[in-house]
Amino acid sequence: MNIHEYQAKEVLKGYGAPVASGVAITSADEAEAAAKQLPGPLYVVKSQIHAGGRGKGKFKELGPDAKGGVRLAKSVEEVVANAKDMLGNTLVTKQTGDAGKQVNRLYIEDGADIDRELYLSLLVDRTVGQIAFVASTEGGMDIETVAEETPEKILTLPIDPVAGVTAANAEELCNALKLGGAAKVDGMQLFPILYKAFVEKDMSLLEINPLIVMTDGHLRVLDAKVSFDGNALFRHDDIKALRDESEEDAKEIEASKYDLAYVALDGNIGCMVNGAGLAMATMDIIKLYGKEPANFLDVGGGASKEKVTAAFKIITADPNVKGILVNIFGGIMRCDVIAEGVVAAVKDVGLQVPLVVRLEGTNVEKGKAILNESGLAITAADDLDDAAQKIVAAVG
Ligand code: GDP
Ligand code: MG
Repeated sequence: MNIHEYQAKEVLKGYGAPVASGVAITSADEAEAAAKQLPGPLYVVKSQIHAGGRGKGKFKELGPDAKGGVRLAKSVEEVVANAKDMLGNTLVTKQTGDAGKQVNRLYIEDGADIDRELYLSLLVDRTVGQIAFVASTEGGMDIETVAEETPEKILTLPIDPVAGVTAANAEELCNALKLGGAAKVDGMQLFPILYKAFVEKDMSLLEINPLIVMTDGHLRVLDAKVSFDGNALFRHDDIKALRDESEEDAKEIEASKYDLAYVALDGNIGCMVNGAGLAMATMDIIKLYGKEPANFLDVGGGASKEKVTAAFKIITADPNVKGILVNIFGGIMRCDVIAEGVVAAVKDVGLQVPLVVRLEGTNVEKGKAILNESGLAITAADDLDDAAQKIVAAVG
């Protein structure tokens, strides 16, 4: 689960990390009062969307010459003018895709005088099975670009789960970030704090880009992106309360109600599959024959008719879907249950696009009979290869 920057900063502030004062607003009427709570004279007006690259992003409605999604303001009036300009418009960044995201919330923050922009993150490093810091002096830009062009400028430092962040670890991070004086004192305190927050809150990613050294020599967390492990949310009611469903895909929210593993994608062939591995293979083979999947969907092992019906409805609700491929290997899942779900869903929502069904495994004959006797226009397929070719041909 992702949260907004202002929420992430609130969480980190609770652990003692240095963040600026700020006020989140959802309407331009609140901008003046928000700015007046801050010391000034420099303010930052920051779009709150679940995507990075906001500073360099562009608002669809404002044309190519307008300023981006993170703006400096030198007076309360400028804060208000920028808030009016930004709220309600669609911000397109490297991470939003072409559709962009509507900015419904702004964070008005006390501006900092920046000396240097650094990169610092914490993540779960699966190759070593530990939580690791990633640190670089090249902050404020794409870390992927830094990794590609100047990998020697990145330090990856795994943390021993028993010892935690040792003084030697913190020292190594300070060296990598070239911190001295007050910034070093701040850093030695900050690193263990971030690690503690990461572990206690079951984060899966904590990215601070940039962490800044201010002109007064101190450190400040200028941007914060935090993701939480969805499987651990049950033990963090405070974090769950930070969820902003308006930032999430409506189809994914609906799917989560039925415990369906669903991820919306950009293509136009909807897929209903059981088992994550088979779902991946199905997506691969659709691509092999020249089309793109509209979604990843694993209905799981013991799916009920209701679950299958819900899944089918979610797929057909996507206007990009021009054809559907149902690919089921009935092991624990029974083919007749899938067939009943498909028939029930089609009767309910109608079928506007070609449907190819490949069933194999437990009760396959019963399943095929249900589909045949339904009178629906379903194309049967013999195997995965045949199924993929048939749906790609049908979509054209
Ligand atoms: P992102 O573009 O979504 O990553 O948003 P950031 O929060 O990282 O802001 C983008 C850039 O705006 C930063 O890299 C800074 O260069 C600049 N910026 C943000 N806050 C401040 C601030 O308080 N003072 C100054 N001078 N620049 C800022
Ligand atoms: Mg940033």
